[in-house]
Amino acid sequence: MNPAAKRINCDRCLRPLRNCICSLVNIHNNMIELLILQDKTEAVNAKNTAGLLHLCLKNSQLYKLNSDESMATAELDRLLFASGKQPLLLYPPTRDAAALGLEMPLPAPDIRQIGPNGLRLVVIDATWRKSRKMLYKNRPLQTLPRLALENPPDSLYLIRKAGNKNQLSTLEASCYALQQLEQDLVDYSALLDSMQRFVTQQFTFRPV
Ligand SMILES: [Zn+2]
Repeated sequence: MNPAAKRINCDRCLRPLRNCICSLVNIHNNMIELLILQDKTEAVNAKNTAGLLHLCLKNSQLYKLNSDESMATAELDRLLFASGKQPLLLYPPTRDAAALGLEMPLPAPDIRQIGPNGLRLVVIDATWRKSRKMLYKNRPLQTLPRLALENPPDSLYLIRKAGNKNQLSTLEASCYALQQLEQDLVDYSALLDSMQRFVTQQFTFRPV
């Protein structure tokens, strides 16, 4: 492939044509809306799974931000609370929150009473270090009620050799969280299969 062709991006997935993932896309009608807050450095990582996740979930938004900067509160509030939905942040408890001067998350609401149409699942797509930074920089994120995964399976994502099997990709963590909240009413197994094909593709077509 000549150098000019390498730079051409796919119109749909916005990736370089040689790394296009459109053939892996299968649409899922998730009941609970997903908001992905993506660190800008992840957006250019060919092995990142959030782009595929966003393309496959009908009811999702992907918002790119710089984890080193605070977002304008009004803009962040608009993303989190649009349409009067209750946001839930998929994030483990931050045990050192008080010592670091962070706000405590609000208690989890009664999810069953709100129902799937009233909820918005918020995930941070970043390295662990950058996700913590994003949290510290943005007070509205600190106070969101949290959701933790209950007994997630081992990761199927093996691109990052340094990672261990307990570290889930954004795509996996989001699917398992949606399954948990939607009580398995939507089947995400085809999406997880797509991720495995994505992993194979990324091993075959390593960026030069
Ligand atoms: Zn494409």
